[in-house]
Amino acid sequence: MPVDRKDITQDEPQVSCGICMNEIPASVALSIEGDEYVQYVCGIPCHHKWKEQSEKNRNPDVEAG
Ligand SMILES: [Zn+2]
Repeated sequence: MPVDRKDITQDEPQVSCGICMNEIPASVALSIEGDEYVQYVCGIPCHHKWKEQSEKNRNPDVEAG
């Protein structure tokens, strides 16, 4: 059984994760629509981190409790 293994498409646009700065294909990146621009992250963990940072930026004086 022949395996038709295609090379990974090189012409696929790459984006940088806004958290860990890894370069990832745009097709697998998670896009986050910010207030002014779209941010990309490489996965769920970075998505959570981005969200935490985003909320801190919005509310620098978060009251505990
Ligand atoms: Zn990342």
